[in-house]
Amino acid sequence: MNEKDKRYIVVSIGDYYSPDLEGKGAPKVVYDSESVEDCFEWIEDKENNTYYLSHNEAGRPIYYVLEDYHLSVDDRYGYEDGSCYDWEDIDCNKLNGEACGECQACISAMIEQDIALVKHNQVNIVRS
Ligand SMILES: [Zn+2]
Repeated sequence: MNEKDKRYIVVSIGDYYSPDLEGKGAPKVVYDSESVEDCFEWIEDKENNTYYLSHNEAGRPIYYVLEDYHLSVDDRYGYEDGSCYDWEDIDCNKLNGEACGECQACISAMIEQDIALVKHNQVNIVRS
């Protein structure tokens, strides 16, 4: 891939009181740009301004910059069953030990895996 074809995204991970029954703590793409510097400027601007907490929110979200392909479906279908998620370690007790993908335990585990993916792939630049 050419440098000029790269796109970057800013992903926000919210800070919610538990239990987060609505899954609001899942990572959200909040900005995108072809320039990584632009993404960090966007974050700096947000962090320098007033932030209003929404319902059940405990504090400001944390922002991460990633190359956009990390969140694309193509990049994520890495598991044997063709899923985006590793179901093996999910503590769901429905369907004879298979994860159901719909209960609170499954949803929380999916969100945790999404957050781990974002953190693992974040771009770090030295900010002046
Ligand atoms: Zn389940």
